[in-house]
Amino acid sequence: MKLADVSFESILENLHDGLYFVDRDRVITYWNEAAEQISGFSREEVVGKSCSDNILTHVDGSGRSLCFGMCPLAQSIADGKFREAEVYMHHKDGHRIPVSVRISVLRDEKGGVIGGIELFTDISNQKANALRLQELEKLALLDNLTQLANRRYLEKELLSRFEEKKRFQLPFGVLFLDIDHFKEFNDSYGHAAGDEVLRFVAKTFIVNSRPFDLYGRWGGEEFLAIIRNISLPDLVELGDRLRLLVEQSYIVYESERLQVTISLGATLVRDDDNMESLVKRADTLMYRSKAAGRNCLTIG
Ligand code: GH3
Ligand code: MG
Ligand code: MG
Repeated sequence: MKLADVSFESILENLHDGLYFVDRDRVITYWNEAAEQISGFSREEVVGKSCSDNILTHVDGSGRSLCFGMCPLAQSIADGKFREAEVYMHHKDGHRIPVSVRISVLRDEKGGVIGGIELFTDISNQKANALRLQELEKLALLDNLTQLANRRYLEKELLSRFEEKKRFQLPFGVLFLDIDHFKEFNDSYGHAAGDEVLRFVAKTFIVNSRPFDLYGRWGGEEFLAIIRNISLPDLVELGDRLRLLVEQSYIVYESERLQVTISLGATLVRDDDNMESLVKRADTLMYRSKAAGRNCLTIG
């Protein structure tokens, strides 16, 4: 892997998350700029070192070292599976930083595992998120009604994800989510009640989202989620959980419970995809959920 030869400029701008690669022996082969910022370790200090070499030394919530036996990265390299965890990473200055990590493996052309990829994000910094919202508002990338990313932002993000996939083979998936019979809902209860529903559906997505996931409003009552470094089964599990959570949400309106359901399409990016083909496939799958009776998810 000749990563040093690659120009990272275009994607570094967009990467707020740490990203590193290890080979089969867990020797670090790549370390991005966000990783430097979050950990305090420069690329020169870590590339070529083993990740248990007194560098990262992740521990879990009860202080147990994950370097021996329970390292999620080592487990993924061993079984080829995706993993997600919240761990505490060692900062160069000594303190521990809570990070959310999502791990996948790197394979050669024959499908053999040649290493692992860990995407991680600092979850200690709640303020950063609030600041990011303000920034997005300024840039006109937020949807006013729902406070989710707007379509412009989603499209920007999709382009970054395609770039990331091209350079790092980092997979991602999308969910297309559409409220069922929403026209009827508006006709029965009024547009204001409809707006409130849009807000609680959006809130359901936001409060259940992980740091690497982006939810946005694609159009009227249609949403798109971009989920990084995930397997299809995990994407389906996530989509189905959101579907159930929306189904079980409600507003009280003139002492009546008002509820809606959503139909979903779930798919992973493919090598020959572009933004249009990917979104179109997710949308088509969502329509199959409509045809199948709504309030369900279709994979493809
Ligand atoms: P389906 O189950 O097939 O998706 O039916 P539907 O009625 O949800 O689909 P359709 O596309 O026919 O209607 C979408 C409705 O969403 C029409 C419009 O009134 C409503 N809608 C779109 N944007 C907003 C909004 O910002 N606020 C409110 N209250 N309603 C909206
Ligand atoms: Mg609809
Ligand atoms: Mg629609």
